[in-house]
Amino acid sequence: MAQGAPWLEGLNPAQRAAVEATEGPVLVLAGAGTGKTKALTARIAHLLRTGRARPNEILAVTFTNKAAREMKNRIGALIGEAAEGMPWVGTFHAIGVRMLRRHAELVGLTPGFTILDTDDQLRLLKQLIAAADIDEKRWPARLLASVIDGWKNRAIVPDRVPAAEAEAFGGQGPALYAAYQDRLRTLNAVDFGDLVLHCLTILQTHPDVLGQYQRWLRYIHVDEYQDTNVAQYLWLRLIAQGHRNLCCVGDDDQSIYGWRGAEVGNILRFEKDFPGAQVIRLEQNYRSTGHILSAASGLIAGNRDRLGKTLWTEAGGGEKVRLIGHWDGEEEARWIGEEIEAIAAGRRAVVAGLDGVAILVRASHQMRAFEDRFLTIGLPYRVIGGPRFYERQEIRDAMAYLRLAVSPADDLAFERVVNTPKRGLGERAQATIAQAARAGGTGLASAAARLAREGAIGGRAGAELRRLTEAIGRWHAVALAPGYDHVALAETILDESGYTAMWQADKTPEGPGRLENLKELVKALEGFENLQGFLDHVALIMDNAAEDAAEKVSVMTLHAAKGLEFPVIFLPGWEEGLFPSQRAMDETGLRGLEEERRLAHVGLTRAERLATVSFAANRRVYGQWQSQLPSRFVDELPPADVEVLTPPGLYGGGFGAAAGGMAERVARADAYASPGWARMAARTSAPRGIARPEEARTLTVRADAEAAFAPGARVFHAKFGYGRVMAADGDKMQVSFEKAGEKHVLASYLVAAERAADLPF
Ligand code: ATP
Ligand code: MG
Repeated sequence: MAQGAPWLEGLNPAQRAAVEATEGPVLVLAGAGTGKTKALTARIAHLLRTGRARPNEILAVTFTNKAAREMKNRIGALIGEAAEGMPWVGTFHAIGVRMLRRHAELVGLTPGFTILDTDDQLRLLKQLIAAADIDEKRWPARLLASVIDGWKNRAIVPDRVPAAEAEAFGGQGPALYAAYQDRLRTLNAVDFGDLVLHCLTILQTHPDVLGQYQRWLRYIHVDEYQDTNVAQYLWLRLIAQGHRNLCCVGDDDQSIYGWRGAEVGNILRFEKDFPGAQVIRLEQNYRSTGHILSAASGLIAGNRDRLGKTLWTEAGGGEKVRLIGHWDGEEEARWIGEEIEAIAAGRRAVVAGLDGVAILVRASHQMRAFEDRFLTIGLPYRVIGGPRFYERQEIRDAMAYLRLAVSPADDLAFERVVNTPKRGLGERAQATIAQAARAGGTGLASAAARLAREGAIGGRAGAELRRLTEAIGRWHAVALAPGYDHVALAETILDESGYTAMWQADKTPEGPGRLENLKELVKALEGFENLQGFLDHVALIMDNAAEDAAEKVSVMTLHAAKGLEFPVIFLPGWEEGLFPSQRAMDETGLRGLEEERRLAHVGLTRAERLATVSFAANRRVYGQWQSQLPSRFVDELPPADVEVLTPPGLYGGGFGAAAGGMAERVARADAYASPGWARMAARTSAPRGIARPEEARTLTVRADAEAAFAPGARVFHAKFGYGRVMAADGDKMQVSFEKAGEKHVLASYLVAAERAADLPF
């Protein structure tokens, strides 16, 4: 069969089974890097190439837009033509928008509805909280947003909030949820949760529409299935119920969106909901070399709540996972910058270009240190899913203008820009407009237009308002015409509104940068058919990966790294409180800790050939210096798969008086008391790669290190081997190593030579 079927070539038998089982429910449950996504992609190519389905009959859900793009590219490569015209390959959100635009009226919207971002959402919730006379300081809008999201994720509509949750948000939750949904409808707007929830409602209440989609979307595919939430699951299940051609691939050990309502339970439910489902397991990992895979497997073995699986690789042992401690986050960034240059220049065991290197952080505030450092040394980098271009003030303002052109009823956009640039339309004038809108039952823009026409607002403000509302009318008229030149329209809008002029007149240092960004925005428009398409895109994008060809290091959060792979991975900031995140543990206890451990596992399994874990003894978090303890995950790494590196400061003496501080802090690390550690220690028949605690104790940064060795003592170092102490300054040791020569190292990285025989290497 592989003959003349290049899309099947190179697949292993289990993958092939997943590809060829085209009819009926299939679940591929397998670990990281086993080729789930590859099999899923081949399956789609197979359906297309064997004529079982047309491109528009395939529904394939991916987790990020980047993943969707890659899947389309891979399919294109497999079937030998561009995979354009696959309208139903995308994220849940993107597919939700497409479906909802077709049937908007069934949930009381019109097809031109606006997608609110978090900022707009919070502004709206604040208004509702104020209107209900609730003290926003005690009951913040953010909290309400998360309560409402929680309901939407579980497919709960306002009149179905369970009695047990009626007390949410001080007992006002359900009422505010209902008010919020009403308000959204009036604004002709939806939030992210609605994109799936509205679609679900439509399918549940309109059997004819459901029937259509069941006939159209004949083959359904879901990648990263472990991270679907209940609403998404129900939506999929409805569409799949007719033909039952549903293929889901996932890995319970990579479920990292529990905090957003994802339910690993969906995996476990699959066989129950789809009786007779074929379950396919893949065990060969094609991504990572042996030590990396074994380190990741050893770490995740600390989780109690998992299905458990074995993975193997033919790739050989490769490099051990490198572990290194630093004085602070800046030094960590400096060291990583130098390592990346060394790797790119071929001075390390693993060689990779900048495109092959990624830094995965737990929290986005960690990125700043790297961005600063890389800018300083001129190392090109891209931030994926980070502080986004589209979140900048000038971009958001400009987008509000574009939104008004598409949909003048977009009150949030109107509020944002009515007095930006300054038009003399202060709070009083805005209150007058709001009142008129309420009285007339119209949107703000149309009320404003009426007021301006009737001269109800006088003076310069009135004249300006008239100019603005007339302009909005003109822009809207253009945007209604099919095939209009949307790039020219955007330029006109930015000019006529006075927005560009406002930044031209701005004499602050940021002015020129903001103008650059506005130009960039107009440039971005060229890639779209019209403003609506662009606005949808921006509302949905999760990453701003630059499309230019130059090689760049990628910086992103661990969450954004799902499904991706890089030859070289850096995992900085493995410190208690940062990773595992204190908040996650406070909020959900052991469940939170296990999710954090899965996140660490996701991080390690992104690496193909080299993974480096690091931690800093001090870190500035939101302007405050904090001393840090190494993460418990550091100690959970199987020692046999880890190589401990010596902090760089010791060579140049850069640590100074601080060295003692770091050693002490590291020495205080009571990581061995962590639950994960205790569980691992309790395992008598540890699988390959998992060490007994006393072994690990001597290899990782040691909790019980001697303060110092006397000159003349024979010692052993994990990296440099045997040597003799020449001099000691506090716990900084000058050691003459037999093979490596003279080095400065911290006492805590040394063991007495006579104990070295007990070490696992
Ligand atoms: P994750 O759980 O991280 O999403 P995955 O199971 O989806 O991983 P893929 O990304 O599909 O794994 O594959 C991992 C790597 O292994 C890719 O580089 C892929 O090309 C390669 N690969 C997958 N299957 C095979 C195979 N049969 N032969 C050779 N290489 C393969
Ligand atoms: Mg994958």
